Amino acid sequence: AGRLQGKRCFVTAAGQGIGRAAALAYAREGATVVATDLDAAKLAGLAEAGITALALNVLDDAAVTATIQANGPFDIVFNCAGFVHQNDVLTCKDEDWDFAFALNVRAQWKVIQAALPGMLEQGGGAIVNMASAAGSVKGVANRFAYGTTKAAVVGLTKSVAADFVTKGIRCNCVCPGTVDTPSLGDRIAANAGVAGSVEAARAAFVGRQAMGRLATPGEIAELVLYLSAPESQFVTAQAIVIDGGWTN
Ligand code: NAD
Repeated sequence: AGRLQGKRCFVTAAGQGIGRAAALAYAREGATVVATDLDAAKLAGLAEAGITALALNVLDDAAVTATIQANGPFDIVFNCAGFVHQNDVLTCKDEDWDFAFALNVRAQWKVIQAALPGMLEQGGGAIVNMASAAGSVKGVANRFAYGTTKAAVVGLTKSVAADFVTKGIRCNCVCPGTVDTPSLGDRIAANAGVAGSVEAARAAFVGRQAMGRLATPGEIAELVLYLSAPESQFVTAQAIVIDGGWTN
């Protein structure tokens, strides 16, 4: 039997990148998986893996609550949705700041607020939030709004863990370095002008990696799986870095 046999999992931003890899890892381990994404088209192919795929904008509080109530209760929640703004304290726009906090932080609160009552009724659950190595672990150039929100995710995670540790709830977050996902491709493209070319921009991202390569989404998904699965049952309130030695 798989490591998550009999478990119900809920994933946000599961259309591509780390969220998709985690949804597939959960399904591989025998879980019943509800995978959601803003962009329904990106969920194509997940049904073939036995996954229930649903369109969901995590900025829509009513839709978050309705989707979780209709498909729960869940044993495992992976809050993956997030956006990477490239700015510094001077260039950050008000709307960048507000959007970053709404998506990267507030939406995690709303998902947990909707899913936690079902977990408590069942006597336990595991919550995994997406943070980043950028933020509380490392200050990264041009990641002002992003790093600020990802540091907030660590605080959110530890707070939830503290309040519900005696109720069977675990809450941890993952702090990846640079992961080769579609949105990283967008950031590389955005830096092509400064770097001289797309190839040079990609080489700059790869060049700052201690291992000389980027992470794959599947490598991050294995940590998310560990923090979701019973073998991590004594682990809570942690921000686990997975960065190929970048922050060493
Ligand atoms: P990605 O950025 O390529 O894809 C993000 C997905 O989120 C898309 O499928 C998109 O449709 C979905 N999405 C966007 N807005 C949404 C909304 N309002 N509601 C629901 N879904 C929405 O994927 P990624 O690079 O794997 O990033 C996923 C998470 O991992 C983010 O929180 C990101 O900050 C974090 N992260 C990424 C890296 C990296 O290098 N890629 C590193 C550390 C942390």
